[in-house]
Amino acid sequence: MSVDPLTRATASLHGLALGDALGSQFFVPAHRPLLGSRTPPPGPWQWTDDTEMACSIHRVLTDHGRIDQDALAASFAAHHDFDRGYGPATGRMLRLIREGGDWRTLAADLFDGSGSWGNGAAMRVAPLGAWFADDLPQTVRQAELSARVTHTHPEAVAGAIAVAVAAAVAATHADLSPGRFLDLVAEHVPPSMVADGIGEARLLLTVGDPLLAARVLGNGRNVTAHDTVPFTLWAAARHLGDFTRAFWTTAAAGGDVDTTCAIVGGILAARIGIPDHWMRMVEALPAWAEAPGLAPDVPAAGRATPSRRTAAPTPSRDPGSGGHAAEHRHRR
Ligand SMILES: [Mg+2]
Repeated sequence: MSVDPLTRATASLHGLALGDALGSQFFVPAHRPLLGSRTPPPGPWQWTDDTEMACSIHRVLTDHGRIDQDALAASFAAHHDFDRGYGPATGRMLRLIREGGDWRTLAADLFDGSGSWGNGAAMRVAPLGAWFADDLPQTVRQAELSARVTHTHPEAVAGAIAVAVAAAVAATHADLSPGRFLDLVAEHVPPSMVADGIGEARLLLTVGDPLLAARVLGNGRNVTAHDTVPFTLWAAARHLGDFTRAFWTTAAAGGDVDTTCAIVGGILAARIGIPDHWMRMVEALPAWAEAPGLAPDVPAAGRATPSRRTAAPTPSRDPGSGGHAAEHRHRR
């Protein structure tokens, strides 16, 4: 593709932020009925930790052209905003890094030395996949490096690899069936529960009901990589040419909605662009990210596929109980 890495990664970052910011709106109890009618709530929509961490990835790639893990850890820690919905383990670790702790030791020691298998490495990585989209082995390597700064468990790493490769494939393959998309991703994901889930997602591509798919694949409710990533890839695969339908399909399943929608938005944005009327509702990205504004007409792999911006009604679905804080309480 002729599109340069920065343009692709920036488009992905804005798509991630849109998914995160709009998705998180449905943790507000008053907004939940709007899911049923596929009506966006009033703006502005604030993004959460997913976007904040993705901004660090984008910034490190802009500055270094690759994942410099020390720079990434320093950026995560420096820009950690407690009020953005971080999970407690990640929040504590970032505070300790700010106080001089070694990210390598802190990340490896989480959860009695198992490392975190949360979805936090996957939720922020799509722009990296868009950046390295011309080189899938490099996408895999860099995704793993980015994950291990906070998430060392193999499932979390596999989840990050899967999302990064998905973003890369989506950005560079113009003609792509849902099955081919998942097959290309699966080729690069190491054996894991995440990989098994992608295999199940492949079998569920003929299913149109996101609630049914999520019942098998998960919806991020447990905030693990394997409970989150397979469903997001199913949703992205089903709607490779339509950002709006991909969003509503993902949000309808409930669970960790800001993160599932961030992942899907990040995967699709470098392929098909972002609805302008939605993008205008999203809180601006932080100045420190130094991310360019979104080009009005991002050249994209999937532009050959007509994008339908209107969505059919879907049965009402409560995104889950407990509100935003509760949804993140168990993130690892
Ligand atoms: Mg979040």
